[in-house]
Amino acid sequence: MASIIIAPNKYIQGQGELANIGTYTKPLGEYAFVILSKSGYQRVGATVEASFQAAGCRVHFEYFNGECSKNEIQRLKTRFDELGCTVCVGIGGGKIHDTSKALAYYAHKPVVIVPTIAGTDAPCSALSVIYTDDGVFEEYLWLPANPNVVLVDTEVISKAPARLLVSGMGDALATYFEAKATADSNSSTCAGGKITNAALVLARACYDTLLADGLKAKLAVENHVCTKAVENIIEANTYLSGIGFESGGLAGAHAIHNGFTVAPATHNLYHGEKVAFGTLVQLVLQNADMEQIEEVLDFCCSVGLPTTLAQLGITEVKEEEIMAIAQAACAPGETIHNMPMEVTAEKVYAAILAADALGRLYQ
Ligand SMILES: [Zn+2]
Repeated sequence: MASIIIAPNKYIQGQGELANIGTYTKPLGEYAFVILSKSGYQRVGATVEASFQAAGCRVHFEYFNGECSKNEIQRLKTRFDELGCTVCVGIGGGKIHDTSKALAYYAHKPVVIVPTIAGTDAPCSALSVIYTDDGVFEEYLWLPANPNVVLVDTEVISKAPARLLVSGMGDALATYFEAKATADSNSSTCAGGKITNAALVLARACYDTLLADGLKAKLAVENHVCTKAVENIIEANTYLSGIGFESGGLAGAHAIHNGFTVAPATHNLYHGEKVAFGTLVQLVLQNADMEQIEEVLDFCCSVGLPTTLAQLGITEVKEEEIMAIAQAACAPGETIHNMPMEVTAEKVYAAILAADALGRLYQ
């Protein structure tokens, strides 16, 4: 099987770059259909409108209904077609990105993705997660191409709550360990092939950036400023982790995250917060050396990512509940089977409790 790496055509990151969105979008189409929330419009609408005007492009703003569902995608596509728009732009968080990517795919038009938070590594990927109108997971829509442009204004992102940036670090923390496991087991990645050396190097750069700049970035954002460390973490969370997970592969950490979604107590946590604990469980599962585990624990404690079940919301440990999580993590087709050893629900159950004990020891 071939090795494959995929990525957005262009990734642009810098302070105040949203003011140039018209210039970056114009080569793709001169009538932009911009999907965003009402609050997003209040924050950045004027900047975006002025930029398209200055570039000599037409722009239509359309409010997002709140769910990336088939009905919402169809509603937006009808509007897009009626207006005769030529390029789709999604400004906001993950669901707006996924909706914009899906709309552009069905309309056979290019798409520009503008994240306003750095909370996950989804913006760069060729994937939309589709939900029902009620918000229940329905299916993955694997797209034939990554976004044409991903435009990241670090000024905008550094004004978002620090917890979102930290959650993005939790998602990014898993990237290297999952890519390494995928490489060691010679499994396939979301890009539809084996891992490239390039993807593994980007995944490693992601991890090294977190260790070097994570705490500095968190403190800066808590004080509402954008420093070089913040810029580095935004790139790690969005680009390095985005390419790293998609072309590097997923393994234990994300499967364990998915397992935790069966536990109602963890529902108030963000994706990346659960993935961080999933990373710790994966390291226990593969019996990583103590130095490696301590490095990850230190990092999590320094930025405030959960390292214990209690921090995930599970204050009372019940055997059947943890077993249900472990079984969900080991469901057929789950990425945990990309680990380079045989994994069973019993092994995951043991690793969850052992990881929790390590986390408590380091509090
Ligand atoms: Zn993730």
